Amino acid sequence: MSNRRDFIKKAAIGAIGIGHVLSPINANVKISKGFVTAKKANKPLIISTWNHGLAANKEAWEQLKKGSSSLDAIVSGVGIPEADPKVRSVGYGGLPDKEGKVTLDACIMDHNSDCGSVSFLQGIKHPIAVAKKVLENTPHVMLSGKGALQFAVSEGFKEENLLTLESRKRWEKWLENSKYQPVINSENHDTISMLVLDKEGNLSGGCTTSGAAWKMHGRVGDSPIIGAGLFLDNDVGAAAATGLGEAVIRTAGSAMVVELMRQGKTPFEACKEIVERIYNKHKNHKDMSFLQVGFIAVNKKGDYAGYSLKPGFNYAVYDSENGNHMEDSAFKMVKK
Ligand code: ASP
Repeated sequence: MSNRRDFIKKAAIGAIGIGHVLSPINANVKISKGFVTAKKANKPLIISTWNHGLAANKEAWEQLKKGSSSLDAIVSGVGIPEADPKVRSVGYGGLPDKEGKVTLDACIMDHNSDCGSVSFLQGIKHPIAVAKKVLENTPHVMLSGKGALQFAVSEGFKEENLLTLESRKRWEKWLENSKYQPVINSENHDTISMLVLDKEGNLSGGCTTSGAAWKMHGRVGDSPIIGAGLFLDNDVGAAAATGLGEAVIRTAGSAMVVELMRQGKTPFEACKEIVERIYNKHKNHKDMSFLQVGFIAVNKKGDYAGYSLKPGFNYAVYDSENGNHMEDSAFKMVKK
């Protein structure tokens, strides 16, 4: 967290104008009008949102090397931040809702367009693993709340308390003023979304989060919604989101990024266009003051990109040529 705060400060200092690019430039980066418009990676390629994506990518990469399926690699990979109490936006240790309950959302999707999802799930550390079981063992796509929990328990998942002492303390502090509005800003929207392009060229993805801190009890964000927090079409590409889930749902964000890639846009152009659409739809909206959204996307060829509304968004990329590393997203607005 502190690393990312440092980064955000540096990004704010380094940003010169709208669309200023912070990404390091290397041989396979094309620059056009100041933007990084395409980065190409060898297969397999793993991209995950935020700094915790590094550890997730590492685990997923090892799984792929061992011959695990992409879905197993995603479950193990994003399972690392899910289990890490220091990551306060995912799984165990996630910040609770306004009633002090940790409620989790997750989804997973494979190259056949099969998907599984859980929302408003409590007491299970690895919602992504439950989402995979929904995909594999039910005729449905999405299970929610108590039903999702019952299903998880029937599949052998252990029910446990996910509210750590530190997260409880933060919630108690918030209660002192208890602003009703769940706040999403450039520092606290840290869903992990992971996209995988495997060595055969097949796409898959997963997304897992504890959602917006201090949200209303029962609130579900974009992250478990196929088409909003995550979408892929194996003929085209894959996309995933982080940020204010309400804004991503209103615009069917990830599905739209994929549709734009289908029409021939690069991942960068597609992410940028949807972020701009979100901005245009929200510029007079009550959510605008704290609105932040970011997308990552990859196409079938291995071109990938990220783009966010405000500075501060970064993502972890792992491919055989460049190894596992962070990249800073380009963004639309300089103001945090
Ligand atoms: N998209 C998530 C949500 O709205 C927040 C995040 O990215 O952390 O629940």
